[in-house]
Amino acid sequence: MTSIILSRGNIVRTSYGTGPYKIDTISGPCSCAEFTRDTPSDPHYHATCKSIDEGQAGTYHLGGYRLDGTSTWTDEQSLILVQDAQMELSL
Ligand SMILES: [Zn+2]
Repeated sequence: MTSIILSRGNIVRTSYGTGPYKIDTISGPCSCAEFTRDTPSDPHYHATCKSIDEGQAGTYHLGGYRLDGTSTWTDEQSLILVQDAQMELSL
């Protein structure tokens, strides 16, 4: 079973070293093209997140990801689950 990483309230970081972020809203699926390409992408989602690092406070946008955290735009980027919202509730 594939775990759902892109879920509201989950805390994620990216494989390229940004974050951690708390996922605020998720929209999609959509098939918009990555900005460097003209062809439509596989279905994916867009998320807005809030940084939980006070030094980089703000709203961040993560686009092109599947619910399992893999990217439809590049194999080199993915989201890594830091804390599941369900786990947080049970603490
Ligand atoms: Zn899109």
